[in-house]
Amino acid sequence: MKVTEYFKKAKDQTLISFEVLPPLKGGGMQAIFDTLDPLMEFKPPFIDVTYHREEFEYKRQESGYYEKTAIRKRPGTVGICAAIMHRYGVDAVPHLICGGFTKEDTENALIDLHFLNINNVLAIRGDARKFDGRFIAEEGGHEYALDLVKQIADMNRGKYLDSDIENASKTDFCIGIAGYPEKHFEAPNMEIDLQFLKAKVDAGADYIVTQMFFDNQSYFNFVDRCRALGINIPIVPGLKPITKKYQLSSIPRHFYINLPEALAKELMNAKTVEAYREIGIEWCIEQSKGLKAKGVPCLHYYTMGDSATFRRIAEAVY
Ligand code: FAD
Repeated sequence: MKVTEYFKKAKDQTLISFEVLPPLKGGGMQAIFDTLDPLMEFKPPFIDVTYHREEFEYKRQESGYYEKTAIRKRPGTVGICAAIMHRYGVDAVPHLICGGFTKEDTENALIDLHFLNINNVLAIRGDARKFDGRFIAEEGGHEYALDLVKQIADMNRGKYLDSDIENASKTDFCIGIAGYPEKHFEAPNMEIDLQFLKAKVDAGADYIVTQMFFDNQSYFNFVDRCRALGINIPIVPGLKPITKKYQLSSIPRHFYINLPEALAKELMNAKTVEAYREIGIEWCIEQSKGLKAKGVPCLHYYTMGDSATFRRIAEAVY
């Protein structure tokens, strides 16, 4: 079933969903099942699986020189989606990115998903590779998520890259996209970022999942501004608690988001690892309750393989 159909069916009820990461290459499916098994009792109708592009590394050669090599550290997104659907009977939402894909690669990936009966996809651009400094599209690939959304929407109309194909099988993808309550870091300002978000919606996106945030007001303001621009599709808040000390600086650094003063103060005063984790979890529970009370369509949790934390949160909120 499509993600948006779950929202419609749930009416005013707030659903729950989780995101998992493929294990590092060499790891097995059990890591994913170990994360999801304890969370399935909360009945998520869909589970997202992230996609990870190849990264550059410098490897020391016998000669003593360093060689730049490209390695995909977390392959397996589509296989994991199929395994999740098979084991739990819920829908899986693979993330599909622009980076590393030509349009032909994208088309072939979408055909694989269509044949597997995977009818939901989160269409995103992807970040810059380490050492690239900025996002560089594959030659013959897409530069922005907007173009990826357009390609998927075309396939939903039966339009493939090869215009000679006649009576092509129409795909039926429900298209999710990313949104940023505190602005995407490359956008010059919020207004321009929202115009680009609107372009993705006009191109055929069906729902938005937000970047994490720690102040619900930033989500509510974002939704208000979207609605004022005529963006009327569901906007799902993405949530993640801070559970480790280094995240106090790594989360703002990597995700370009602010931590509210009260949260930062509490975390900075925490004396033990346990106290730190407790503050982060309690904050996330309060955030979740506040969002649920306002009737958001779904709470989407970035699990990062930490089922114990998310069980605590889900038990308190659902
Ligand atoms: P876009 O919508 O293309 O926007 C990127 C930037 O370009 C923005 O600043 C936007 O304002 C600007 N822009 C957009 N269109 C235009 C245009 N036509 N002209 C000029 N500027 C434009 N990354 C992964 O690698 N794998 C994942 O699985 C993954 N999952 C994610 C899930 C969620 C919910 C979120 C919020 C992010 C995820 N990301 C993932 C990270 C994402 O790839 C990055 O945030 C990326 O930098 C931007 O992706 P986007 O789809 O928002 O890009």
